[in-house]
Amino acid sequence: MRKRVFFMVGLLSLFMMGCGSRDVQTNDKVSTTEVIKTDASYGEDMVTLAGYDMSTGYSCIQMYNPKTNATIAACGLANCNHEYVEGEKITCNAIMEGKVAYPFIYENNLYYFLDTGGTTLYKSNVDGSNKKKIATLDFSTDDHEALFIDGKIYLTSFSDEDGEADEDGMAMVASETSELYEIDIKTGEQRKMTDFGSKAKIDCFSKTKNGNRIFLGVRYDNKSVYDSEFKTWNKYMEWFTSCDNPYEEEIKVFDGHSDYYCVDIKNGDVEKMGFNYNMTYEGMENVKGFYDFYLIGANKNYYYYTTNYSEQYTLYEYDIKKGTSKELDNAYRMTYSYANNKIYIVKTQYDKDKELGAPDAEDKSIPPEYRCYDTDKHKWTDIKPDYDMDKKILVLQAAGNKYLYGYISDFVNEESESDSYVSSFSQGEMIGLKIKK
Ligand SMILES: [Zn+2]
Repeated sequence: MRKRVFFMVGLLSLFMMGCGSRDVQTNDKVSTTEVIKTDASYGEDMVTLAGYDMSTGYSCIQMYNPKTNATIAACGLANCNHEYVEGEKITCNAIMEGKVAYPFIYENNLYYFLDTGGTTLYKSNVDGSNKKKIATLDFSTDDHEALFIDGKIYLTSFSDEDGEADEDGMAMVASETSELYEIDIKTGEQRKMTDFGSKAKIDCFSKTKNGNRIFLGVRYDNKSVYDSEFKTWNKYMEWFTSCDNPYEEEIKVFDGHSDYYCVDIKNGDVEKMGFNYNMTYEGMENVKGFYDFYLIGANKNYYYYTTNYSEQYTLYEYDIKKGTSKELDNAYRMTYSYANNKIYIVKTQYDKDKELGAPDAEDKSIPPEYRCYDTDKHKWTDIKPDYDMDKKILVLQAAGNKYLYGYISDFVNEESESDSYVSSFSQGEMIGLKIKK
């Protein structure tokens, strides 16, 4: 019964408008990226974006150049308008059937994964020409962000298996697997880095890196509904809705755990990390061996993590030697991005007239705050963006030694019934943003 989230991400709206007609400029100095999201990667000089249109089943790859403020399709064909037209044969290099994920540029080549049932890593020129298959993956990706280190991409997998139908005829997930994989993007060689095995439920929910080490957050249950005292979905739901503090109880009932692992990518060692940490979620302060934080970065003797519940995001600095945490900042909503030992955040505040926890409860009359925390100097700096102030920034995205920003566009996709996630660009610098209808 686990709900899988499929992203309707990227440039759907721009995709529908066509990709523009400027030629792709290749640039040997295009820097690559450290963190690759399912729909985008961010480098100092280039952003690579992938949009998947669920209604057509086709994807489009685009590039944004922060220096020229130009968004272009990954297609250098003359006389191509980079548009998908139903029923017509696709000749555009930037448009392809299937879902494109994890697009990025490395050494002046474009790389991406194309999911058409199985997932295949492709390489092409930046203008989409000279497309080559590198490898078909032995696993399915879990749609969480990937890390890029020294010519290798680190992804987490996901697979699940349903059990037999219970007495009410409901089949539930009986087991899941999720592991960290390394893929050499030149040779296509794949290496499984972890061995968590089959669990009743598992999610590698957080990934960050420091040098040759990857820090991986893993949450898992040893018991499924079948193995628990409930046996059936209905009995479980009945209990869940009547229970005072179901989250705390669930951890006990399903034998839930969360752990952080440190994976040394050079020698392959996987080590469980220990934190002196108490849960912050109300009513769960006494739960041991379960972490409700997201590790977002590490630098020397410090880890950086956030906790987020619907009412508040808090950013902490953890002193490894002392085993103590210090609060660095908090906000009603906080987006963050970590690269090169800097944390970029955007803070927005709560509108007290709105219902707590409502999706749109931000106070739009208070301008967002933009800040950067330097983890080498342990110092905050405020960022004053030089952009069109009638737009609101939602995200600061670390990109190499710079940051890029995104805003709420006044562009609304009239075709879309629901909120849509798109990416768009402000003057000079860039980002991914959310549009609300
Ligand atoms: Zn084209």
